[in-house]
Amino acid sequence: MSQHILAIDQGTTSSRAIIFSAAGDIVAIAQKEFPQSYPHDGWVEHDPDAIWESVTDSLIKVFDKCPLTVADIASVGITNQRETTLVWDKNTGEHIYPAIVWQDRRTAPLCRELSEDAALLDYITHTTGLLLDPYFSATKINWILDNVEGAREKAEAGDLLFGTVDSYLIWRLSGGKSHVTDATNASRTMLFDIHQQQWDNKLLKTFNIPQSMLPEVLDCAADFGMIDQSILGRELPIQGVAGDQQAALIGQACFEKGMAKSTYGTGCFMILNTGDEPLMSENRLLTTVGYRLDGKTTYALEGSIFMAGATIQWLRDGLKLIDNAAESEALAQRARRDNGVFLVPAFTGLGAPYWDPDARGAILGLTRDTGISEIVAAGLQSVCYQTKDLQKAMESDGARPMTLRVDGGMAKNDWVMGFLSDILGAEVERPVVTETTALGAAYLAGLQAGIYDSVNTLSQKWQCETTFTPRLTKAERDSAYDGWKSAVARIRCS
Ligand code: ADP
Repeated sequence: MSQHILAIDQGTTSSRAIIFSAAGDIVAIAQKEFPQSYPHDGWVEHDPDAIWESVTDSLIKVFDKCPLTVADIASVGITNQRETTLVWDKNTGEHIYPAIVWQDRRTAPLCRELSEDAALLDYITHTTGLLLDPYFSATKINWILDNVEGAREKAEAGDLLFGTVDSYLIWRLSGGKSHVTDATNASRTMLFDIHQQQWDNKLLKTFNIPQSMLPEVLDCAADFGMIDQSILGRELPIQGVAGDQQAALIGQACFEKGMAKSTYGTGCFMILNTGDEPLMSENRLLTTVGYRLDGKTTYALEGSIFMAGATIQWLRDGLKLIDNAAESEALAQRARRDNGVFLVPAFTGLGAPYWDPDARGAILGLTRDTGISEIVAAGLQSVCYQTKDLQKAMESDGARPMTLRVDGGMAKNDWVMGFLSDILGAEVERPVVTETTALGAAYLAGLQAGIYDSVNTLSQKWQCETTFTPRLTKAERDSAYDGWKSAVARIRCS
């Protein structure tokens, strides 16, 4: 019997299909981008049919790129952009509105209005682990029901279904047979009680959402449904699902309390496994479901950085100091040590743990001998200092991140990863397979299909490519971080 696993990675700008061998090696990848739509200031939408076509196109093309056939696939896993909200008619299958993407801010006025109710804010945080924000699905569903003609009546009559992207894809892939999601995606809707692991009635009432719209919530490794044979000529079981950041946590085999992963793409998401304890943050980090296996929930703390690789893009496109991102490494190596230059990339405010939306970016500490190298190095270092800020916030919430496993485009930069280890005072590990998100989905499917017998097997599969070890003394590390803290203090508005 074939032991290959097919992962669908449905992201914000593109969809990919990746075939993995049971050993976890990539056999083939197919990818298709789809258009973004910005109909008004702060609005971001996707056409659900365009998402669907990008997925089915990738699913078909991935088999053109390798000698395998559909018969060689044992199981399918899905990972997806989180929080993005879809509502469709269960009778016709038609979506009633475009997908409202996680970045969309249209429900900010509603969130502002609701945030006057301190008891509600408290309830939301304690029940869902999240902060009341347009980012999550709840207010997006509410907006669709209130603004699409006839939607509320149809929803009350039980004719509409809601899903995050995983749920929508499974529904379509199964020919409308399965309306399900997994606990990680459910935990990002702001409607899910992460302690009881069920939809919360009070929140459904608050956001005026009929329960009949919601999918059934399953473990991350479960029988989610069958891909209809009309899609690939043969039925295939969907057996693993997790939201993208949680899938990366699994792909990085962070299965022990204290293990953390950070993904350095345009922005950065750091997730720390906190075991069976849902730690409630005093620093406005998010408490979320890391994964749920065999009915047992493992929780995580999540912090994000708005500007990671995006800072390097700005150095390239805004300042034109470099021609490409990779060039930043050689330049940074040439920078004078301890040059005192700090770049605080608060282009759109500061996120965790400062939460200062009005702060704006700055480059501080310039002297006559500051050159391009020092500024580029400061841009790269800013990503490391912000990670340190998250590490500190997690520590003050009572969680101790041990080693950090890294992935994403920026993790390729050895200079950045070396400095990251220096400033964290912790080991930073970069894996051989950096496609950790898709790999996580494949691992989950493989667990359910019996290809892997336990997460211990997955832990053993994880292979380190490079370990970066701290070279600074504590005094040097503290002094550099103090410099960053003073730079941040200089630009804060609140
Ligand atoms: P996303 O998935 O968010 O599109 P990727 O994981 O593909 O992001 O990473 C791309 C980001 O990483 C870009 O913002 C780019 O500036 C940055 N990046 C890529 N290579 C390097 C490098 N060698 N050094 C620093 N930054 C890099």
